Amino acid sequence: MGKRYEIDPLTNYTVDENGCWIYQGRKDAYGYGQVWWRDRDWRAHRAFYTHHKGEIPNGLFACHTCDNPPCVNPDHIFLGTNNDNIQDCVSKGRQNSSRGIRQHSAKLNPAKVVEARRRHAAGETTASLARAFGIVESAMYKIIRRITWKTAEQDLAASSATASDKEGA
Ligand SMILES: [Zn+2]
Repeated sequence: MGKRYEIDPLTNYTVDENGCWIYQGRKDAYGYGQVWWRDRDWRAHRAFYTHHKGEIPNGLFACHTCDNPPCVNPDHIFLGTNNDNIQDCVSKGRQNSSRGIRQHSAKLNPAKVVEARRRHAAGETTASLARAFGIVESAMYKIIRRITWKTAEQDLAASSATASDKEGA
């Protein structure tokens, strides 16, 4: 890879037991990694996300599903607005009014979230569900408690309603 030198700062992490990539370089006052990349300073998790998944649209927050500020695992980061009310993001005070665009980790979607809540209601533990869905337990806890994915049921209903709307009414 000819541009190898450019991504080297983005290999400076260790992996913990939750699958979090713990950034090993500089950290800011909030515990977020800081990295010099593409000729400027980045919050490390934003740089890793951008490098692995693509540019972060203006106005969106890069939020952790794992609630672990030094984590730079792109699969633990999703883009959200402040409507998602993720403390991780809101606590920065970078209020922004962009809304309507949400790109969560590919591991989750409204159907999966609804399924997880249904299985939890049926007695399955948060830890077991976290393993089944490939996310950390703290993230599953937030889903079950509706701290995240508050509108999953409506989102799912809306997407299936468009397909069957008015049919056979
Ligand atoms: Zn993580």
